[in-house]
Amino acid sequence: MGFQKMIAFGPVPSRRLGSSLGINHIKPKNCTYACVYCQVGKTTFMDIERRFFYSINEVISDVETKLIECDARHTKVDYLTLVPDGEPTLDINLGKLIGELKIFHIPVAVISNSTLIDRIDVQEELLLADWVSLKIDTVDENSWKKINRPNRKLSLSDILSGIQTFRSRFTGRFVTETMLVGGLTDTPVSLEPTISFIREINPHVAYFSIPIRPPCLNWVKPPSKEFMENFLLNTIHTLPTADILFEAETGNFVSTGDLTNDILDITSVHPLREEALAGIIANAGNGWEVVDQMIKKKMIACVRYHSGNFYVRCFKKEEGKR
Ligand code: SF4
Repeated sequence: MGFQKMIAFGPVPSRRLGSSLGINHIKPKNCTYACVYCQVGKTTFMDIERRFFYSINEVISDVETKLIECDARHTKVDYLTLVPDGEPTLDINLGKLIGELKIFHIPVAVISNSTLIDRIDVQEELLLADWVSLKIDTVDENSWKKINRPNRKLSLSDILSGIQTFRSRFTGRFVTETMLVGGLTDTPVSLEPTISFIREINPHVAYFSIPIRPPCLNWVKPPSKEFMENFLLNTIHTLPTADILFEAETGNFVSTGDLTNDILDITSVHPLREEALAGIIANAGNGWEVVDQMIKKKMIACVRYHSGNFYVRCFKKEEGKR
């Protein structure tokens, strides 16, 4: 039995965006980074060239279908969020896609890793969005190479100046996201200049997270308790508006029909805690045997991480090919 990839998934409850309908418009897993903490898995196709992935019509029609399903279930959608299992600005159609998504009269959000933000075309396209999140894990070159493991053609100084320029131009809601990883971005050499940089660009909110879901590499750890205490007591307050995303988002995920495909779509970009997955299944009126079957067929896998079980999508290598 074949399972067709749905481009739109969710909606997923999000601390930042409310009820967010995700749009996975990049093939897995095309990225400019191979972050050590990536929840989507290893970067199988690393490149910095922008390219074609799906036609605009294909994406729009998938979003429309999902919105009709949401409407029928009286499920509210607060944002259409471009949050693929890779870097959204790699999509050569990004600007046109954001423009076309406006027909639904729902704000459009983009969650980017910032790597192509120094390009004028990428800036122009992101200016069309209503909400943009840019990743700034560190401004320290050595830490950057260790945590984000960038494509070697990328330059951190170009990325940082691109972020500054984009910030000065963008009139929508601008947020940053920083991952705190034990031994990498929690050191004074990385953290202090990073906080200064974020303070300078003055985002509407600076979000901080820690690797609470199973990361790409299993040696990746959250910072120590002592660090976190000091960070929460002394550091975070030095930013005008900061927030923490330390809790897993385990609200009521909404299944919109095809349960197996829903689970595949969500787990491809968003590893699910067992509680959240159980919620989806109960909501769809099914039992846990759906998960057992999917594990047996190697569609998803259960990963034990710290205190909980998480479910992640198993990709076949050919799924990411253009
Ligand atoms: S965390 Fe995001 S930017 Fe980093 S490798 Fe994964 S998809 Fe790419």
